[in-house]
Amino acid sequence: MKYFNVYIDGVLSDITVEDGIITDIASCETGHPEYSDVFFALPGLVNMHTHSAMTLLRSAGSGLPLHRWLQEAIFPREAKLTPQLIYKGACNACDEMLNTGTTAFNDMYFCIESTIQAAREKGMRANVALSVTDNDFDNPNLISDFMKILTSDSYGSLTVSIAPHSIYAVSGRHLQYLADFAKENGTLFHMHLSETLKEREDCLRENGIPPVVYLDKLGIFDKVGEKFIGAHSLWLDPDEIRILGDVHATVAHCPNSNLKLGSGYKFLYTELRDAGVNVTLATDGCASSDNLDMIEAMKTMSLLQKGIRNDPSVLPANEVFGVATANGRRALGLPDNTIKRGNCSDFFLVNINNIVFEGIDYLHSTPAQIHEEFLNRLIYAGNGSLVSKTVTPLS
Ligand SMILES: [Zn+2]
Repeated sequence: MKYFNVYIDGVLSDITVEDGIITDIASCETGHPEYSDVFFALPGLVNMHTHSAMTLLRSAGSGLPLHRWLQEAIFPREAKLTPQLIYKGACNACDEMLNTGTTAFNDMYFCIESTIQAAREKGMRANVALSVTDNDFDNPNLISDFMKILTSDSYGSLTVSIAPHSIYAVSGRHLQYLADFAKENGTLFHMHLSETLKEREDCLRENGIPPVVYLDKLGIFDKVGEKFIGAHSLWLDPDEIRILGDVHATVAHCPNSNLKLGSGYKFLYTELRDAGVNVTLATDGCASSDNLDMIEAMKTMSLLQKGIRNDPSVLPANEVFGVATANGRRALGLPDNTIKRGNCSDFFLVNINNIVFEGIDYLHSTPAQIHEEFLNRLIYAGNGSLVSKTVTPLS
């Protein structure tokens, strides 16, 4: 497959893709006038915390805070979901992610065979994690059923892992058990962490220590180390940031979901990054973020950092783009997808024939300046609806 008239790093080029690999990039200075459309290409985005089937629960319980939202709006609706519905919801999610530039996602839900099937059929990369609460341990076959999925050959290039829901839904004993299991099987360990002030205060009242210190005392980080993925990680103190940084854990920031549920907005990006934490970006499920648009999430994350620090230079477009791409791929163990010959073909195209991109001075700008203009305009003036096509090696 060949893509003509594509700006890559500000240089007009043609891209050739064969069997999921970029086999050639040739600059074409004057372009191909026979093709009227001109695009720019960017590496595919990585949505690091989703509950993909929640497309069926979109916008449920608007206006409720997290714990009431879960109990009153989400759990009763989820009780009615069947494997077929979860498959349909996950297919919708994959379509929505592909339409908005995302090529990989990190999911947490139940009936994960349905999500695995959807991701495979849609040609997406994914880590699909089984969400577990204490109630699930009532099922004596919990682990043997999961092992059947983990050892089956049904998931191709996807990865499968375990996801204890949170410290408030899984006891310390079960968290330790699941961390041992993740370590033995070499899987990721994905959980909600310090999403709300209530979660933090409950942990302080019950255990005398905040959530990350509690997990550390349980030995979780010794067991899973950099395979730990803490979704949200919004309410942290310096000690907790140091613990996460020392093991190079990953956190998945979900700014739109946190804002919608009123969970908070002062995500400690700079502090986490500087401590050695791998900071990634996510939308969360559609019940709280309402969409899976990672371009919108990049804008929100960047604007929040500038706002809470009174500093417009914090988290510029190229840096937030790295958070939403390379950092996520590192967490999921995916190969490099910068747009270069020999790399895998996870990328998306944006047609520059749009008012958002009008006024760029192509004649008098360097390639680096052109690229920076595209990226700034896409993130701050655009959203996922500007994406023309998303390419994955598996599609
Ligand atoms: Zn979540």
